[in-house]
Amino acid sequence: MKFGTKSIHIGNNPEGLTGAVITPIYQTSTYAQEEPGKHKGFEYSRTHNPTRTALQTTLAALENAQHALCFASGMAVEDTIMKLLRPGDEVICTNDLYGGSFRLFTKVFANYGIKFHFIPLQEMDLVEIMINSNTKMFWVETPTNPLLNIIDIQSIVEIAKKYNILTVVDNTFASPFLQNPLDLGADIVVHSATKYLAGHSDVVMGCLMTNHNELHQQLAFLQNSCGAIPGPFDCFLVQRGLKTLHLRMVQHCKNASAIANYLVNHSKVEQVFYPGLTHHKNHEIAKKQMKDFGGMVSFTLKSDSTESAFKFMKNAKLFTLAESLGGVESLVGHPATMTHASIPREDRLKAGLKDTLIRLSVGIEDTEDLLETIEFALSKV
Ligand SMILES: *Cc1c(COP(=O)(O)O)cnc(C)c1O
Repeated sequence: MKFGTKSIHIGNNPEGLTGAVITPIYQTSTYAQEEPGKHKGFEYSRTHNPTRTALQTTLAALENAQHALCFASGMAVEDTIMKLLRPGDEVICTNDLYGGSFRLFTKVFANYGIKFHFIPLQEMDLVEIMINSNTKMFWVETPTNPLLNIIDIQSIVEIAKKYNILTVVDNTFASPFLQNPLDLGADIVVHSATKYLAGHSDVVMGCLMTNHNELHQQLAFLQNSCGAIPGPFDCFLVQRGLKTLHLRMVQHCKNASAIANYLVNHSKVEQVFYPGLTHHKNHEIAKKQMKDFGGMVSFTLKSDSTESAFKFMKNAKLFTLAESLGGVESLVGHPATMTHASIPREDRLKAGLKDTLIRLSVGIEDTEDLLETIEFALSKV
């Protein structure tokens, strides 16, 4: 079965009692038992809820996984995965990564004796040097945020297997429509479902997928023990969003590619970061592991005043100035003051994230209208 059919049919069965085509929002905390311990597989909604189970079934299918678990947010997923580790364990991470992940690792889990190394994972010769007997996990984000670097998942997995290290891939930017890390050998896939999966900027949720039974059991145990689960209404919203993911992603990619190509040829633009551009450093790897190149575009202006970047953002009227990404509406952001403010400036610059960098989450509006907006905003710079 292909992707679009899966997103509409797997985990979407008519409900037994009434035939309701859409899985109801089971707004209940508990379930009647016939006799003590005799129930229909549902005891308490922190552990299982039918709306969540339906969504997890769909999500697993979209990443070609045996198991999926949903959480209250993307960060709650990451928090749970880190609890697989013990004091003394070490993690090797992408250095250009989601600001919230950086904060969770360095400000929370570092206090529990877990050590994090941030390196450019796209430079493969640096990777093996960092490994020692305490290395337990690779944390890979690709495409990276906000510089759209591409990391070769298969090459990381090859090294990981050699040293018995878990590979976790944050697949938020690509979505399962464009990239399936488990097929490339990764152990766990992470999504902020807030973004492309939900797709309408109206819910915060996270999920993970895996094919390891034992790992799944550990993660489900942690989920139930720590309790960061999503509510049934949010599960309903994400499941509804998933049904158009394959259509939305096509338009996101089409618009982003048109904008990236427009920006490349503009006299006021210094550098454009988009893995679909043939001169992108890792374009060939992107082509190998992704179906298309996604809806995120970053760029810098030739003028290196932050003021110019702000002028662009103010005049790009169809791009709402906001954090987040992956919704149907286009957004513009300034990573240095917004999404990545929690990363020290020195570290940002080391990773190549300039103060003038502008990040676009390109929506699914009509291409011509978006290009017109960009043209106008650049004329005001
Ligand atoms: C948004 C995001 C997260 C965090 O997810 P929340 O749902 O906001 O908690 C993690 N990784 C990436 C790449 C993200 O964009």
